[in-house]
Amino acid sequence: MQTVRIKKGYRFHIAGSPSDILTRLPAPDRVAILPETIPHIKPRLKVSVGDAVKIGSVLFTDKNDSRFRFLSPGGGRIADIEFGPRRVIKAIVVDRQTDDEPEIEFPVVDEKQLNRIAPRHLADHIVDRGMWWVFRELPFRNLPNPDLIPPMILVGLDAQEPFQPSPAVYLKDAETDFAYGLKVLNRLADHRVVVHTAKSLQAQVDTGRKVLTHVISGCYPSDDSGTVHYHIKTGRDQNRAWFITGQDLILLARMLLLGRYPVDRVISVAGSAAPVRQHYRARMGAPLALLVDPAELKGDERLVVGGLLRGYERGSDGYLGLYETALNIVPRGGPAEFLSLFKPGFAKPSYSRTFASKFNRAPMVFDCKRHGDQRACIACMHCADVCPVDMLPQMVYKAVLAREVEEYLELGLLDCVECGLCTYVCPSKIELRQTFVETKAAYAKEQTQNRTV
Ligand code: SF4
Ligand code: SF4
Repeated sequence: MQTVRIKKGYRFHIAGSPSDILTRLPAPDRVAILPETIPHIKPRLKVSVGDAVKIGSVLFTDKNDSRFRFLSPGGGRIADIEFGPRRVIKAIVVDRQTDDEPEIEFPVVDEKQLNRIAPRHLADHIVDRGMWWVFRELPFRNLPNPDLIPPMILVGLDAQEPFQPSPAVYLKDAETDFAYGLKVLNRLADHRVVVHTAKSLQAQVDTGRKVLTHVISGCYPSDDSGTVHYHIKTGRDQNRAWFITGQDLILLARMLLLGRYPVDRVISVAGSAAPVRQHYRARMGAPLALLVDPAELKGDERLVVGGLLRGYERGSDGYLGLYETALNIVPRGGPAEFLSLFKPGFAKPSYSRTFASKFNRAPMVFDCKRHGDQRACIACMHCADVCPVDMLPQMVYKAVLAREVEEYLELGLLDCVECGLCTYVCPSKIELRQTFVETKAAYAKEQTQNRTV
C-alpha cells in the first residue's frame, strides 16, 4: 500500500457531521430520476406520462451514445415528466405500485462467467444492464467510452467534503459485493485498479478487508479521485483514467450478481440545521421530504444536495439525483450583523485570517451568507494556496474571460477537480469553480463535436 501526501487543500471545522447510525427508510410512494443533474448527457425519452414501468425499465438514453441507458428506480406508472427552459428534462417521476412492485430480471454474471468474459465484452454486459453511469472519465467526468480499456480505474472511498456518507458505514455488511466489484474492475482495467481513502479513515475502512492500494494524507479534497489521479499518474497516456465511488461499485456488483437493478443506497443527512444527523438507507431518487420532515424545518434553512462545496440547493419538494448521496441542511444566515467589523468572529468559519476563528479548532456553524458581492481580484493568492492540483486559479480565470483557449489549457484548466475550494476562500467572491466547470464542459462538447464531423 502506498501513502500519497498532498500538501494543498483545506481542513474544515464545520459543525453538523452525521453520526454513523444507519436507519432503513420505507420505500416512498414516488421516486424520480433527474436527467438535468447528469453531466455531459443529452437525454432521449423512452417513456411517456401514464406508461407502466418496472424497476429497471429504461426511462431514457443518451443521444450522444444510445447504448447508455438510465433505468427506473421504481415500478409503477410515469406520473409526470417535468421540463425546464428549452425543453430540458428536469425530472421523470414514477408513482410506485406499493405492493408487489414490478421488477425486471437481468441475466446474472457470477464469478465463473466473469473469469471467462473478455474485458471488452464485460463492458458490454455492464452497458446492457444500464449500469454504465457508475463510471466516469477524467478530466471531464463524463461517461467513458466502453470500447476502450482504461489506463487505470480509481475507486474513491472519499468523505472529506462536508458531509458525504462515511465509507465505513456503506461498506459494513457489503464486503462480499465490494470484493466482487473489485474483481470486475480488475478484469476491465487489466488489474490497474487504485482503491484509495483518506489516512483518517484507513483504520475504519481497511480493518479485515485489506482492499486499499493507496492511503491519502492531506485535507479536502485530497481524497477525491481526480486529486489522487493528478498526484499518481506517471504520463499523458494515463490522463483518461476512469473513476467510480465505493458505493457505486457495490451497486454494480449487486446488479451483476443478483440480476436486479439495485435501488437502495446510503445517504447522509447532515448540516448544523438538520433536525437529525445520521445515515439512511433509502430508495434511489427518493423525495427529500422522506429524508427530512419539512414540518421539522423552521423555513430559514437551505437544503443542499451533494456536498457543501459542490452541491446544489433544492426545495423540500425535490428528489435525490442519480449521483447525489448527501443532503446538507444549513442556515441561510441572517441579515448583516451590526458593527460586525469590530467583532473578533471566534465562531465564523473562514479561511481568512481576519477573524479570530483562525485559532478556533472547534466545529463552527456554516451558513449561506456570502458576506458581500463579487469584486475585482485583489491578487491575494488564497486560491492558488489551496488548489490541490497546483493551478493558479486567478490566472486561469483571466484567460477564460479573455477566451484565450490555448492559455487556459496550458495553465492546467483540465486538471481542475472542481472541488470549489478556490471559490470558498476567495475574498472577492469570484465564482471560480462554476466558471471552470462550465468552461471544461464547453470544451468537452467541442471536442465531441469535432470527433463526429
Ligand atoms: S481550480 Fe479551484 S475548483 Fe479547481 S481544483 Fe483548484 S481549487 Fe479546486
Ligand atoms: S482568491 Fe480571489 S481575489 Fe484572491 S487571487 Fe484568487 S481570485 Fe483573486
